[in-house]
Amino acid sequence: MKINLLPKDDNTNGWSAILSPRQHQPALADNIRADWLVIGAGFAGLSAARQLASNRPDDRIVLLEANEAAEGASGRNSGFAIDLPHNVGSSLEELEASRCYMGLARAAIEHLEDLVKQHRIDCGWAKRGKYHAAVSTRGTSEVLEPFARELEAIGEPLTWIEREELSSKLGTNHFNAAIYTPGCILMNPAALTRGLADTLPGNVELYEHSPVLDIDYTNGVTAQTPEGSVFAPKLIICVNGLADQFGFYRGRLLRFAAHASLSRPLTEAEQKAYGVDLDWGLTPANAFAGITMRYTPDKRILIRQNIHFQPSVRYTDAGRAEIAKDHKRLFDDRFPMLPDVTMEHTWTGFICLSENGAPGFGKVAGNVWAATCQNAVGVTKGTISGKLAADMACGVDNPMIADMESLGSPSKVPPRPFLDIGVRAKFAWELFRNRHEA
Ligand SMILES: Cc1cc2nc3c(=O)[nH]c(=O)nc-3n(C[C@H](O)[C@H](O)[C@H](O)COP(=O)(O)OP(=O)(O)OC[C@H]3O[C@@H](n4cnc5c(N)ncnc54)[C@H](O)[C@@H]3O)c2cc1C
Repeated sequence: MKINLLPKDDNTNGWSAILSPRQHQPALADNIRADWLVIGAGFAGLSAARQLASNRPDDRIVLLEANEAAEGASGRNSGFAIDLPHNVGSSLEELEASRCYMGLARAAIEHLEDLVKQHRIDCGWAKRGKYHAAVSTRGTSEVLEPFARELEAIGEPLTWIEREELSSKLGTNHFNAAIYTPGCILMNPAALTRGLADTLPGNVELYEHSPVLDIDYTNGVTAQTPEGSVFAPKLIICVNGLADQFGFYRGRLLRFAAHASLSRPLTEAEQKAYGVDLDWGLTPANAFAGITMRYTPDKRILIRQNIHFQPSVRYTDAGRAEIAKDHKRLFDDRFPMLPDVTMEHTWTGFICLSENGAPGFGKVAGNVWAATCQNAVGVTKGTISGKLAADMACGVDNPMIADMESLGSPSKVPPRPFLDIGVRAKFAWELFRNRHEA
């Protein structure tokens, strides 16, 4: 089967631009045999390969990555490892689903934290919590208040913060209120992904710049790359929104472009004018109209706003220049005391959503398992689904596999071009309907 659509992440990722250069692993240049093949070196693939290595220390595990490990979505996100769902619901079923979700997310955080400590991964990993904030009184009463009640119902600690106090913590009076929850981790995602890729166990071979161009499922799996091939009896597929290229979840995956900008560091005078010492992270009460923001330990401000339905997984420089202008405008609206701060980096990454919010996880063929479609919270979901897919493939009796399966499977979406029209109309409507949260 020919792979028709390859990822093509560019070199605009701000998180890796602020790190020193990394020596990537060589491309596959031979025809090799292994016990296991994992495709895709984001959070899911890195976690799957590591767990296979731990379950089967004598097996040879090959991990193929089309580009470089920290240059896909996993290295270019906003750097929140989130332990809570964005909403909980109030029925018993919804409360139970939330408990299950949190259990998975927290297991992922614990696992990542152990690795960060064990390998001394210098990624700024810090349990800083996060503010979930509403701009308007309407957003406060329609989203934040019910969310606070739901969190209380499941016994989750939270602090309710009103405008004035929020303004002193964030240095902007743009927000009406927020719920602060303590469990979220903030970090540099490129540094974390690099660290995970560079500390894989000895029986994992990572080949970068090795896109799978063709895959054959006869008597095992044979994956063809530009200069080599891998044969393995078993495969774990971790390519997020491109799993349909490998024959799985066809007509079920929605590929979106998400964009972020990182400012240059504030000068000392600007830090004084800004008046906030501690770094922080904020997610919006409304995911369509609102923006995700961070103040980083090195005194930069991150703006993450705008997602576009982009099945082609390509984005133009001209489009990104418009996004950069828009992010600067959003920055200026929120931080008028910092007029000269420029956006040093603006980049695009590709996320995978499903219509029903379910992941593409589990056994998808006799010898193939999947950990894909992380619905934009892949730091935790990708990590745990990769780990559990490896356990499942090795026959490890892990009760969390059932929790992961209970999240469901991506539902079918209408064919294109009806899909494009439907998705774009829904987004335009949601943006309009929630414009009070912009
Ligand atoms: C701007 C932005 C902000 C975000 N913010 C957050 C956040 O704060 N917190 C959070 O949890 N999530 C966030 N996300 C989402 C998160 O980054 C993703 O959910 C997560 O990275 C998905 O991990 P993954 O391993 O499943 O997929 P990916 O990271 O997409 O990895 C898949 C890998 O497969 C490789 N691949 C694909 N096809 C092939 C092929 N043919 N051959 C070989 N390799 C192939 C790709 O190159 C890629 O490296 C954000 C995303 C973006 C873009």
